[in-house]
Amino acid sequence: MPTPPKGEKAFRGIAVSAGICRGKILVLHRARHVIAKRDLPPNEIEAEVGRFEKALVQTRQQISEVQRRVVENMGTQEGDIFEAHLLMLEDRMLVDEVIRSIREQGANAEHAFHAVSERYAAALAAVDDEYLRERADDMRDLTARVLDNLLDVRDQFDLRHISEPCILVSHDLSASMTAQLDKKVVLGFVTDIGGKTSHTAIIARSLGIPAVVGLKTASEEFDTGDYALLDGYNGTVIVNPTDQTLFEYGQLSQLKASLEEKLHEIQGQPAVTLDGKRIHLSANIEDQNDIEAVLQHGAEGVGLFRTEFLFINRESAPGEEDQYQVYRRVAAALKPHPVIIRTLDLGGDKFASHLQLAQEMNPFLGWRAIRFCLAQPELFCAQLRAILRASVEGNVKMMYPMISGLDELNQAAALVEQCKAELRSKNIPFDEAMDIGAMIEIPSAALIADTLARRVKFFSIGSNDLIQYTLAADRTNEKVSHLYEPTHPAILRLIKMTVDAAHKHGAWVGVCGEIAGDPILAPLLIGLGVDELSAAPTVVPQVKYILRRLRLTEAQALAEFALQCESPSEIYSRCQKFARETAPGLFENKT
Ligand code: PEP
Ligand code: MG
Repeated sequence: MPTPPKGEKAFRGIAVSAGICRGKILVLHRARHVIAKRDLPPNEIEAEVGRFEKALVQTRQQISEVQRRVVENMGTQEGDIFEAHLLMLEDRMLVDEVIRSIREQGANAEHAFHAVSERYAAALAAVDDEYLRERADDMRDLTARVLDNLLDVRDQFDLRHISEPCILVSHDLSASMTAQLDKKVVLGFVTDIGGKTSHTAIIARSLGIPAVVGLKTASEEFDTGDYALLDGYNGTVIVNPTDQTLFEYGQLSQLKASLEEKLHEIQGQPAVTLDGKRIHLSANIEDQNDIEAVLQHGAEGVGLFRTEFLFINRESAPGEEDQYQVYRRVAAALKPHPVIIRTLDLGGDKFASHLQLAQEMNPFLGWRAIRFCLAQPELFCAQLRAILRASVEGNVKMMYPMISGLDELNQAAALVEQCKAELRSKNIPFDEAMDIGAMIEIPSAALIADTLARRVKFFSIGSNDLIQYTLAADRTNEKVSHLYEPTHPAILRLIKMTVDAAHKHGAWVGVCGEIAGDPILAPLLIGLGVDELSAAPTVVPQVKYILRRLRLTEAQALAEFALQCESPSEIYSRCQKFARETAPGLFENKT
């Protein structure tokens, strides 16, 4: 009997990258919640013991390989982190107990191993000794690796193996995996977890791949091969859409195509308000392949070059020369427009496999960005020299991420002076007057903006982090996305404080977080006195469109209202109303 057609089912998540696509689902990586128990028949027991031993050998090889790479790149001390893992793998008591459980109880290997290792981890976690408690984390880490091997789950599914066009569905996608996606085959993607300003979402927007995150159980509920429609405007995924739904979405796609045409017409025009206020509108990029997108979307150079993506998805860190070649190319291609190169911001939700670091309890509060760089002067100076050398090839500026106080700024400045002296001694040219700025993305930096403003040429407000750190709401966690409010009065006051301090000391201020690319919020930022906006190339035309249709005085009135209003949602509604009235064509998203 033929199977009846499955009915249409709609799922709602968080829209993070605009666009509509439809195609077959490919489920990449299901969340591993339950380790199912199977009772083995006696004739399968020895094979199961063999399977377990093979998984141990595989895990040992993988850990040794990671350890080798870490020692190579960072030295023996960091490599020692993995010794504890290797010792645990060789712990006869643990291994024998698992084998006994397989033999005596007829349990499957993953169930037996998980039960025994979890008991060990729980016992370690309960001990009144910090060192042993940390070993509980090692134990759980190790357990996950062994289970991956037993269950044949690959941490890093090789995305190059996808050959058929598909909508990718995964529990999570790391920023580094997202950066590998090929638009020709990955039409869109869906994840169970995530937030609008995670780097995964940012990369999706940058690549122009429609995406919906925070769908909670998509990777459990969706099946590979099912047909789906993904609406990245409204955050909806429709599995087995009816003809009527497809028709409605066809109309929405047409509407969007005619908007694109309208936006294209202003590509070469400046971002200037009706009353003559010129805003510098630039783009955020991740590598040299984005140059074309910057030009195509009419951005005036680069307001944020996320250089950490040069370090991700490769075997080893790029050296000074490799980096110089990239910076030089970008600077020359976009000359005379500025290219603001941000120094390395690894950590948080961005990791490079060749710089594998010990797991942190709170990576966003940990060894990230300028903290990581100041602790590794060799790595940092290689980048500083590369940027300085590229400064003669175009209009290069440089900024530091995650500045929390004056000390960091001073330490970075001292290293820049050291690098300049080195280059001078070798007669290598660089721009002596290259502008240097600081990102304002930690509340402490906004609060001491007057101190910092005396020492820099510009600020760039990293609202993605400024919001998460001010409101203590993880930018990648959909469970707290309702608290992640860009229009919270605390955020607006910090932005205003930063702008006022900068202008008082003759510095200019940009915003390069995702709010700069949101046509609903961009007018508010302009009203608050921001001089530059930098956003994903794909959203630059929309921001330009709305800026060219408003008056600075209206934006200032909006900001005045916002600064005295106590309610984030009321401020947001007012911004939304203003944007819809100013540029109605941008907001025709609903089917
Ligand atoms: C920000 O925090 O707003 C920012 C632009 O930097 P990133 O998103 O790379 O952390
Ligand atoms: Mg940031």
